[in-house]
Amino acid sequence: MIEPNNKGFYGEYGGAYIPEMLIPNIEELRAKYLDILNSESFRKEYHLLLCDYAGRPSPLFKAERLSAKYNANIWLKREDLNHTGSHKLNNTIGQILLAREMGRKRIIAETGAGQHGVATATVCALMGLDCVVYMGATDIERQAPNVARMRMLGAEVRPATSGNKTLKDATNEALRDWIANPLDTFYLIGSVVGPHPYPDMVARLQAIISSEIKEQLKSKIGTNLPDYVIACVGGGSNAAGSFYHFLEDESVKLIGTEAAGLGVNSGETAASMACGDKGIIHGSMTYLMQSDDGQITEPYSISAGLDYPGIGPLHAFLKDSKRADYMPITDDEALDAVMELTRLEGIIPALESAHALAVLPKLKLKTSDHVVVTVSGRGDKDMKTYMERFNL
Ligand SMILES: *Cc1c(COP(=O)(O)O)cnc(C)c1O
Repeated sequence: MIEPNNKGFYGEYGGAYIPEMLIPNIEELRAKYLDILNSESFRKEYHLLLCDYAGRPSPLFKAERLSAKYNANIWLKREDLNHTGSHKLNNTIGQILLAREMGRKRIIAETGAGQHGVATATVCALMGLDCVVYMGATDIERQAPNVARMRMLGAEVRPATSGNKTLKDATNEALRDWIANPLDTFYLIGSVVGPHPYPDMVARLQAIISSEIKEQLKSKIGTNLPDYVIACVGGGSNAAGSFYHFLEDESVKLIGTEAAGLGVNSGETAASMACGDKGIIHGSMTYLMQSDDGQITEPYSISAGLDYPGIGPLHAFLKDSKRADYMPITDDEALDAVMELTRLEGIIPALESAHALAVLPKLKLKTSDHVVVTVSGRGDKDMKTYMERFNL
């Protein structure tokens, strides 16, 4: 387990670079989150909802035909089977219980592709809390089905109309809302990003993934340590959750994959580790893609969930300390991996998850190796892209 210091730094990354107006909110959350997350009553209700509402534990599936192809033992951690189709609900269930415990009645969130917005609107419906989701006006047009889902769940979707009208602008609007409504509102962030304590809090809520992997491997192969754990990285929450309980098991190789888009040298990319450098985004110090004069660069990836110009500070730290390796995967490599998993195992993955699967042909695996790949989500939301790219 790797924890940030009490100011939220993992080495030099993280912290809380926020406007003064937000300090009381963030300070209250920082003072309370660990006590709440560790309390008996929270743990009971969180695990009950993960089990009966989200459908956990998610299976650890031995992919036999994929294993035969790569001449190793390939295990798939099936986060795609969660309610709402990805790992995101693990986090929103935890944070909604925390918000309720802190007496907040109104939830705000930002969303890019709409997946986090849907997961947030879902738990707000479950708990009967008001929900406002900020979304770039461009994204609202591009992601109509998710906008409809959020509205159906009772959320208000507010367009962000500044800048490029995408995720970055939606985040600014959400922060502005929080400053204006500090007393009744909880800001529910969707990944291991943002000011401390969000990165650590979200990592702990997603850590259920690696805790289950360990138990499941133990009962299936007699040891809880695989040779590799592989996950895709947008902000980095499914990867943080997949790595969490393995961080101190040095024999386990941890690999995160980021979206290279058209290639790391193409200018059309979201590979913030391969192409970025140190800077501040969304309240924390981390790797991000920026121009020479410090403007944040607009990211590109075929996968909306990985289309983010930064990376959670934990991953920046794991990269520099070499505890984890991060590899860029292009759009085309991800698309090949989508079709490979679909045809070999009968599982249509999300485009994001395909970025993790696309590492398999790049590794030099041994027959005895056990490789766990986290399938972060299902491909239903990506069918329009698949229809175009595969001529279906
Ligand atoms: C949102 C999303 C991601 C990226 O977010 P992380 O915080 O990096 O996990 C990956 N996969 C799916 C299916 C998603 O919906």
